[in-house]
Amino acid sequence: MPKRTTRKSYCRFCLSFCGLEIDYDFSGNPTKIRGDSNHPLSKGYTCSKGRNLLSFYSKNRQLYPINNKNRGSWNQILTKWWIDMEKIQLRCTPELMPF
Ligand code: SF4
Repeated sequence: MPKRTTRKSYCRFCLSFCGLEIDYDFSGNPTKIRGDSNHPLSKGYTCSKGRNLLSFYSKNRQLYPINNKNRGSWNQILTKWWIDMEKIQLRCTPELMPF
């Protein structure tokens, strides 16, 4: 039987990477997020974005890469992206590259 758990993680919204503790219910869904008071840098601090991360959570979130409506591996997708970018680079001047 699944049990309630608390796991440590960190906020990825900005480069402060504040430490978080996340509670999960019996089904594995996150129920509460708070600052991790044992984190060596943030020491329990989170800003309002970090405290409200649950509002961004969705059970339907994307968990794997998709290319043209087909599931692929990260290796396939990134290789295709790299080849496509090289083709664009050969046709264009460097200033036309997006970044
Ligand atoms: S909680 Fe706020 S300050 Fe901390 S990493 Fe997230 S966005 Fe940055």
